[in-house]
Amino acid sequence: MVDRSGSDQGFRWRLAEDDGGQPSLFSDEELYDRHVGIGEYRGLEFLHVNAKRIINPVPPASRMGFRFTINAYRGCSHSCAYCFSRPTHAYLNLNMGEDFERKLVVKVNAVEKVRAELRSSRWKGDLIAMGTNTDPYQRAEGKYHLTRGIVQALGEARNPFSILTKGTLILRDLDVLTHAAGRTDVRCALSIGTLDEEVWKATEPGTPHPRRRVEAVRRLNEAGIPTGVLVAPIIPGWSDRPEQLEEVTTACLDAGATSVTPVVLHLRPGVKEHFFGFLDARQPALAADLRSRYGRGSYLPHREQESITAPVRFRRSRGS
Ligand code: SF4
Repeated sequence: MVDRSGSDQGFRWRLAEDDGGQPSLFSDEELYDRHVGIGEYRGLEFLHVNAKRIINPVPPASRMGFRFTINAYRGCSHSCAYCFSRPTHAYLNLNMGEDFERKLVVKVNAVEKVRAELRSSRWKGDLIAMGTNTDPYQRAEGKYHLTRGIVQALGEARNPFSILTKGTLILRDLDVLTHAAGRTDVRCALSIGTLDEEVWKATEPGTPHPRRRVEAVRRLNEAGIPTGVLVAPIIPGWSDRPEQLEEVTTACLDAGATSVTPVVLHLRPGVKEHFFGFLDARQPALAADLRSRYGRGSYLPHREQESITAPVRFRRSRGS
């Protein structure tokens, strides 16, 4: 279903943030469509844009282990309450709450753009990271197949890449991932913060069950695609009990994860207020505790993080 009435909705494409707060990569002169999801996509809206550029550099000061990213979507139907990308939607005059989860920007020309940019003489073949700002295997990918097309393009160009996801939809693309892994360096990681059903249902309501994600880790590794796990985020006071961390770490090691890396909840400005508001309605005592422990910062003190993550490191050191 196409609705071209988007022009009167006041989206500020030029101010759209990409990784690291760069100016928009969209042109406000481009026409865009608004598609209302039907069938299995009911409740979602897809805002089609043409990206001017799809391979984006990360800011020079970034301490990430990659210099370039691709994000074919903005917003994420996985709807994680703690998602650090929520503020990127506010730049579009959409809100970082429900709009972030349901009004999804789709860079419909992403595949043709990546092919063109990979062919450019200016492109030097650096590793490209996907899943840094939005999930490449969220529900929209089932409809648009952009990540699949990008993986195919990268594999054909022998360009190394990595994928971080919570989406078991990645298994749909085992064929193109395996093909790419035979030609270049391909690394995947699943984000699995906990196997605790209560925490999962409350904090990541749009994601596949964490045990299905563990199974995806197994299948990817069996297919020859090195796949690790980020135990992320560990929510202090909710998913940080040693037995909870032991359980998820053991399951991931048993599934053949090439690495298991614990990450304690990070709350950047904006996300912090959103997450604490979410907690106030469900776990007011925990909300008060975390407000005090995080104070004005985005991270817990280093010593607290070390203490929380110790069970993962201890379990990992014993191997599978
Ligand atoms: S899967 Fe990742 S990008 Fe999507 S909502 Fe969750 S944390 Fe955000």
